[in-house]
Amino acid sequence: MKVKTKKYDYGKCEICDTPLQEKHIKQDFWIRGELIVVEGIPAGVCLQCGEKIIRADVGQWIMKLIENSERIAKAPKISVPSIKFDAEKSKV
Ligand SMILES: [Zn+2]
Repeated sequence: MKVKTKKYDYGKCEICDTPLQEKHIKQDFWIRGELIVVEGIPAGVCLQCGEKIIRADVGQWIMKLIENSERIAKAPKISVPSIKFDAEKSKV
């Protein structure tokens, strides 16, 4: 099954005036001290400077998604490196 989505015009980058391209991005959010990664977010991305624009309706959808604690509890977990800054050991 294919879902057809209308192409959204993100316009141009506010920083460098490059036309934005639609990409599916990964974005991390800190919710109540927990790191949550949302994948496949449609966004307008500037290939020149890396600026990302997320549509208002997509932003609202993300907000609903990350507030859904039941869904978060069921989501697969990934492990991320956690490095503690140690001034003494970094003097190598
Ligand atoms: Zn740009």
